Amino acid sequence: MDDLFGPFNDLSEHYATKHFFGKDENLVPDRSKINPMLVNKLEEIYKFLDNQPEYKGKGFPLLGGYRSKNHPDERKKKVPGSHTHGIAADVDVSQHGDIEKLYRLLDKQPFMKDTSLGVYPDGKSLHIDVRGKNFRWGALKKANGDNEYLTADEAFRRFKSRKRVK
Ligand SMILES: [Zn+2]
Repeated sequence: MDDLFGPFNDLSEHYATKHFFGKDENLVPDRSKINPMLVNKLEEIYKFLDNQPEYKGKGFPLLGGYRSKNHPDERKKKVPGSHTHGIAADVDVSQHGDIEKLYRLLDKQPFMKDTSLGVYPDGKSLHIDVRGKNFRWGALKKANGDNEYLTADEAFRRFKSRKRVK
């Protein structure tokens, strides 16, 4: 699985530097920009899920992690967010079934008490960051494509009621 951007798992058993550099910015993957605490946390979650019969073998694959301050999503913010510090990753959970069930399982784990967790039901993704807080939120896409930030409960409630009317 090695390629031009380096080995498949140069950071940990399941994560490589290149996984943290998404396709929406043309950045050269740079290992020094990724905080090891983030890698350890992702690895902890990966192994926890792999021990659950329901999630075994599904992995915990990243959509991206590191962003420059010039990333379109970061330019919209007053202060650049956790992704620009190398302490955040977005995870593709499209293969993990009911996203609310997955979120609630992770939310209550002791190892998530020092970790922030955001849930994006539209994109079937989770945001994980190790800024040392226990923030929780949900976000849904507005008609203009921007995210609307809500509590996770409210995001799930609206997501489900929207699916019903379709
Ligand atoms: Zn994120």
